[in-house]
Amino acid sequence: MKIIMLGAPGAGKGTQAKMISEKYGLPHVSTGDIFRANIKNGTELGKEAKKYMDAGQLVPDELTVKILLDRVAQDDCKNGYVLDGFPRTIPQAEVLDKALTELGDKVDYAINVDVPDENIINRMSGRRACVTCGATYHVVYAPTKVEGICDKCGSELILRDDDKPETVKNRLEVYHKQTQPLIEYYDKKGVLKEVDGTVDMNEVFNSIVSILA
Ligand code: ADP
Ligand code: AMP
Repeated sequence: MKIIMLGAPGAGKGTQAKMISEKYGLPHVSTGDIFRANIKNGTELGKEAKKYMDAGQLVPDELTVKILLDRVAQDDCKNGYVLDGFPRTIPQAEVLDKALTELGDKVDYAINVDVPDENIINRMSGRRACVTCGATYHVVYAPTKVEGICDKCGSELILRDDDKPETVKNRLEVYHKQTQPLIEYYDKKGVLKEVDGTVDMNEVFNSIVSILA
């Protein structure tokens, strides 16, 4: 099963992708997590990606597509995956489709987690991320047991540089211009599913499970 998570930054794509990954035993592939791991390890890719991420812009397609195709070619992705944060542009979606078509394959579901812009700033300013294991929390909606410490691996949590309100505004603009058109793109392909992302995260997940069942 090949699933794509669509939605604005902060809509809950990562939260839901992790839950899908656990329930269905599919790898969770997040291009944002791959970039952040590269930034943490000081790689050239990380240095290049950081310039765009900190400005709330998208990392250029050439860089992003390559890391994504390399990742999904790995053995654990043979039976499917959940893509979180990819594609973010029509050209990225076209490259993915082409690569899948060459394998006689296709995207099964594109799930759009719908959250209006008004809710996003609140979601992002309260988000806390673990750069060591990729876990995500929220100070109000998904708090950790010990403040500032990851429940899963014990590392210190960060407020992502790109979750500051001024950057979030840019990211929302970029989303509407470059990423939102993907909703229509996947609708035309007959694989689009919409869920209300404003309700409790377990309720969002129940809606997704009923789609995938
Ligand atoms: P995305 O991957 O789309 O950027 P995340 O999954 O990281 O978004 O969620 C953004 C923030 O909102 C996180 O702090 C997360 O804990 C919180 N969150 C996710 N889903 C919900 C929800 N349904 N209700 C309230 N907060 C949520
Ligand atoms: P995310 O963790 O998905 O919110 O992504 C964080 C940032 O990484 C984005 O704001 C972009 O700068 C960059 N990024 C992640 N995925 C992509 C992608 N598919 N295309 C371009 N940039 C991306």
